[in-house]
This record gives sequence, structure tokens and C-alpha cells, in this order.
Amino acid sequence: MEVTLLGTGDTTGTPTVACDCDTCRRARNPDEEVLTQAREQGATITPNGVERTRFSVHVRNDRTDQSLLVDFSPDFRQQFLREDVPLPDAGIVTHIHFDHLDGLGNCFRLVDELSIHAADETDPETGKSVAESVSDDYAYLRQITVEPQTPFEPFESCGFEITLVPVDHPPLLCYGLAIEDPETGAKLSISGDTNYAVPDRSREVLAEPDLFLADGIVPAHLCEYHTKGGDHHDEDGTPRTFGTKHMTREGALSLADELDAARTRLVHLAHYYPADEAFEPPLALDGERYVLSE
Ligand SMILES: [Zn+2]
Ligand SMILES: [Zn+2]
Ligand SMILES: [Zn+2]
Repeated sequence: MEVTLLGTGDTTGTPTVACDCDTCRRARNPDEEVLTQAREQGATITPNGVERTRFSVHVRNDRTDQSLLVDFSPDFRQQFLREDVPLPDAGIVTHIHFDHLDGLGNCFRLVDELSIHAADETDPETGKSVAESVSDDYAYLRQITVEPQTPFEPFESCGFEITLVPVDHPPLLCYGLAIEDPETGAKLSISGDTNYAVPDRSREVLAEPDLFLADGIVPAHLCEYHTKGGDHHDEDGTPRTFGTKHMTREGALSLADELDAARTRLVHLAHYYPADEAFEPPLALDGERYVLSE
């Protein structure tokens, strides 16, 4: 299983358009320290600097020579040109927010046939499941076949066994997932966009991955700037949730610890990370690659 982090940023990405903050400036014009760190992490350095585009993960099965794409970033075109990875044979949509779904139209004229797997539970907020929303919004895209999946029920795609699990990203339903190679036992878990209150049953499915990609949008000390503050505090009073929708860096790392992840990278990162904290592991950068064999 070969995992390429195509997009590791939140909904505005880093650098953010028209933003002049220290973090965005340091991303656009990386100094030697940032460049060294980026090279060490295997990140892709582009003419735009060191980037965190909108969320997407490419997972290649070298046994079957198939590729699975988790979420369709609005930066799809740029990501595929930049990383030179194969076009997807199948895709997964975790939820219907812009930064995870609105790149799907890029598949027009690029692929002949694409199965899109998405959850089949009706979201009271929209009156539709994620699968139904994708079908309705992309009715014009004849290349895709939406395959509704029931959370907690494993399904097969690209030679992997995949399980969607509910997470907590109010007000919309959103799903994390586990991707396992039944031949090698390699396991990738992805938190999806979520606060720290991931249900126990979902945690059981995500547990003990070789690689865990966790939403850690900002460090906990920034909760004071959110109108809703922080939530799900640990014993030391550190908030593990930023506002209501995402985990803090500390929350994501604490979840990784509880899941007993062999390796963790934080994703869905905002440019609000202070410039001196934004380019340090385990914060991911676009272009990182991981080979999971067990
Ligand atoms: Zn900025
Ligand atoms: Zn979201
Ligand atoms: Zn998002």
C-alpha cells in the first residue's frame, strides 16, 4: 500500500489566498529551516513554496495496480500534475463539504469509469445521505457510479477492505475510514473531519493502524480565538476540540495515542498555526509518501 498525501490543508489551504500572515509568508518563501524540514518529510517543494492544499489522499495498491482516492479536493488538477500519481480507479467521499467534494468534476474526460463509495445514512441536516448528495450534485457526470455503503460494514475496492465509520463534525454527517490490505495486513486509518468525540465503536475500527492521518486543524492554545472556544478538555484542561468541528493538535495526538497508531501525521491543517510551529513534525506537508507493508 503506497500512500501519497495530496492535500494536507484545511478549507482555505496554506498559503491562503490574499493572506499576509507570517505562516503564509513563510510557506510562500520558505527559509532554509523550512526547506530542510520539508525535504526531510519528503514533501514536494513547488514554485509556490511549501504547500498545504485542500484535503485528499491517494492510496495505490501495487499488487492490483489500482488507485483509490479519498476525497476530491478542489486542487485535484494541481495535485495530480504535481505528484504524478495514477488517476483513481475508485474514490471515497467522506462528507459533502467543499474542500472534500468539489474537485470531483475534474474527473470529466479524464476517467472512463469511476466508482464513488459514500455513506448511505440519511443526514437530518440535508435530508439526504452523502451518497445521494453526490449522485444529485454530479448527475451530469456519466463517468461516475455512486455506490452507497453502510457504515461499519466492510466493502472491497481496489483490492482493499474498507470500512466507513461515523465521526463527529456538526452539523453534517461525516465519516472516518480504515483501509486494509487483506494480503499484507497493512492498515491506514483516516479520522475524517471530526472533533475529539469519535464514538467508541468507530475507534475500534480505526485502532492499531500502521499510519493514522488525523485532523489536527490548530494547536489547542488557539481555542481562545474561536467564538465557541474549545471542548473535550483533558485532565490538564487542554481542549482536544477546536470549536465544535475539528480536533486540536493535542486532541489529534491524544486520539492517535488511544488508537495505538504506529505512525501519525496531522492533516487538515490551518494557516493559523504560528509560523514557528507550522512546519514541524508530526504536521504533514503535501507530497509526503508512505509505503505500508504490514
Ligand atoms: Zn495566512
Ligand atoms: Zn468538513
Ligand atoms: Zn474539511
